[in-house]
Amino acid sequence: MRKHIVAGNWKMNNGLIQTESLIVELKKQTKTSDAEVMIAPTFTNLWHAFESTRQDDIEVVAQNMHFAEKGAYTGEVSAGMLKSLGIKTVILGHSERRAYFNETDESLAKKVDAALANDMRVIFCFGEELSDRKAGNEEAVVENQIKNALFHLGADAFKSIVLAYEPVWAIGTGETASPEQAQDMHAFIRRTLATKYGSEIADSVSILYGGSVKPNNAKEIFGKPDVDGGLIGGASLKAEDFFAIVNAF
Ligand code: 13P
Repeated sequence: MRKHIVAGNWKMNNGLIQTESLIVELKKQTKTSDAEVMIAPTFTNLWHAFESTRQDDIEVVAQNMHFAEKGAYTGEVSAGMLKSLGIKTVILGHSERRAYFNETDESLAKKVDAALANDMRVIFCFGEELSDRKAGNEEAVVENQIKNALFHLGADAFKSIVLAYEPVWAIGTGETASPEQAQDMHAFIRRTLATKYGSEIADSVSILYGGSVKPNNAKEIFGKPDVDGGLIGGASLKAEDFFAIVNAF
């Protein structure tokens, strides 16, 4: 069966002290579900977070990386550097990276390749904007994002890929996709994968939903058959809220 995953994307929040205390709070929580739990602190706090969760059932993952191995890329971090800390998973293609840092399907394809070449797992994010949905183009947009960044990969690569559908209009807005909207899109994503890689691969890939998931709506969203977990922004910054979502499976 597909893995259930709940990942907290902390974005550009929490300095070292807040990271320390949030991790202390997270460790006090009890997990009652089968979901894999991940947190994605900012780069500067990855090592601390990694060290202090070594004994815990929490995986520390990165929010981004560069595709180059090393060299003259001031301010950037490579897959090899993440790996050297023990980080095994990276979030790529978040809509904030696409919108504010000019990430494109083409550059993301290179990042995916670099992560996989370093034996890392990728949480690949994509999703339509409000204007796309209003125009009824959401499926075409999502299909293109997936095809352009991932369809050069061989079937085997999908063992290391998790997809995260995050409609831009639902991120940080308090307006979540309805469980039906999420289910419809996740089923569409799986059909898209199946056309290229067959249904066995398509059925094996975990697809997370992200966008205003909260303790009060997680159960309904996670109850849908093609929703395998969540990528959580705001609600991942409070330990109790985050674990209420983890335990919604
Ligand atoms: P919110 O949960 O704050 O809407 O953010 C979602 C998100 O962008 C996770 O990557």
